[in-house]
Amino acid sequence: MATEDISGHLGLRRKNYSDASGSPMPTLRALLPTTTALFPDSQLMFRRRIAVIGAGAAGLVAARELRREGHSVVVFERGHGVGGTWVYTPAIESDPLGLDPNRKIVHSSLYDSLRTNLPRECMGFSDYPFVAITENSDNDRRRFPGHREVLRYLEDFSRDTDLNGMIRFGTEVISVEMEGEGRWAVRSLKIDDGRADDETEVYEGVVVCNGHHTEPRIAEIPGIETWPGKQIHSHNYRMPQPFTGQVVVIIGSATSSADISRELAGFAKEVHVASRTSRVKIPMKQPGYDNLWLHSMIDKTFSDGTVAFQDGCSVQVDVIMHCTGYKYRFPFLRSDDIIDVDDNRVVPLYKHVFPPFAAPYISFIGLPWKVVPFPLCELQSRWVAGVLSGRIALPAPEEMMGDVKAFYSDMEQAKRPKRYTHNIADYQLQPNNS
Ligand code: FAD
Repeated sequence: MATEDISGHLGLRRKNYSDASGSPMPTLRALLPTTTALFPDSQLMFRRRIAVIGAGAAGLVAARELRREGHSVVVFERGHGVGGTWVYTPAIESDPLGLDPNRKIVHSSLYDSLRTNLPRECMGFSDYPFVAITENSDNDRRRFPGHREVLRYLEDFSRDTDLNGMIRFGTEVISVEMEGEGRWAVRSLKIDDGRADDETEVYEGVVVCNGHHTEPRIAEIPGIETWPGKQIHSHNYRMPQPFTGQVVVIIGSATSSADISRELAGFAKEVHVASRTSRVKIPMKQPGYDNLWLHSMIDKTFSDGTVAFQDGCSVQVDVIMHCTGYKYRFPFLRSDDIIDVDDNRVVPLYKHVFPPFAAPYISFIGLPWKVVPFPLCELQSRWVAGVLSGRIALPAPEEMMGDVKAFYSDMEQAKRPKRYTHNIADYQLQPNNS
């Protein structure tokens, strides 16, 4: 079946897409390698029983691709709906820094006002574009829509592609252990009406789609032990009102910092952004704002509440907010020798997806960052599904390991820190000619 036929084959609602001007919507179809252009059902070699962990964008599209390839799929989702990150909740964690290992985890890191930072035209899956739906006046038709519209898209995708029946909601995977080649004991816990149902089943493959925007990374700040103010990670930021009249320092200058600092400037007395990358020598007032400054990094904090920046400026501060990103975490993986996380490098992974010596029976979807996530997850999932069925071959484990080592060594030579391993911004759209 050619890719052109797929939307018709699935009976999808979102067909014949065009933008407001009538031009065809760009899709990733043009970028798909020719090997994935065909789905030769008749030539399937293996149909495996696969566990997918998570029903966010990655888990949904993984389930869809695995099923298309003929595998039988169970998706475990600890939440009560699909969408993962895009399920906004006003709830925050008991520890605003997210360090307490016993805290009740809130999965999503969205703030109420969040709009996408990618245009909707490049966020959707290749045969299910993220189009503005005009027939319902409630829909957010903006090119950079609010988060509720993204959740609606993922819910529609799950419903229209018939995935909901494959998902076990309210069911957390608590342990994944290799029992032998291609045999995984997956233990899950379903909490229903206060009753916990614990089950262990054997699967022939596990596809990990648990997301990586839940476990906060915190900046190290000299003197912070005696600094008396409040600290919070952006994971627990929802709305600006609680910061009214306060002096806030935001650490980090990536997307969340840009959004939150501007939003806070409308409520807080002052907002100071401490940036490792900005290289400002003196505090720089931001254009269009009277109370928003960009600084170099924090030099030190003091017990009288002062925060001193490396640019020589000192400010009396109420709150430090860490917009410093997240850590990869796979608490359910029991077989230690498969992967490790070292300074936010998930090691070893061939092309960010397969641990060479356990491939293809376990894989990781959606780890790269600074990417266009939904299409990336789709392409990774298609690869995983094809490898699991035997339609696509992987190199030998030693060869994959050699590739991984060469990649790490290139990073070292280029003096790129380990924590940037999965930042693939520079090459995500390059065709793979190997
Ligand atoms: P998630 O969406 O995190 O889903 C993981 C799922 O796994 C969750 O449902 C979780 O409950 C489940 N899970 C985890 N552990 C278990 C377990 N043990 N057992 C069972 N279930 C489990 N992307 C864009 O394309 N555009 C944007 O504008 C954009 N803005 C963003 C803004 C913010 C603030 C953040 C944090 C992210 C943003 N992203 C954006 C990236 C976003 O994370 C991806 O778009 C995408 O949602 C990632 O999907 P995922 O499935 O990998 O992970």
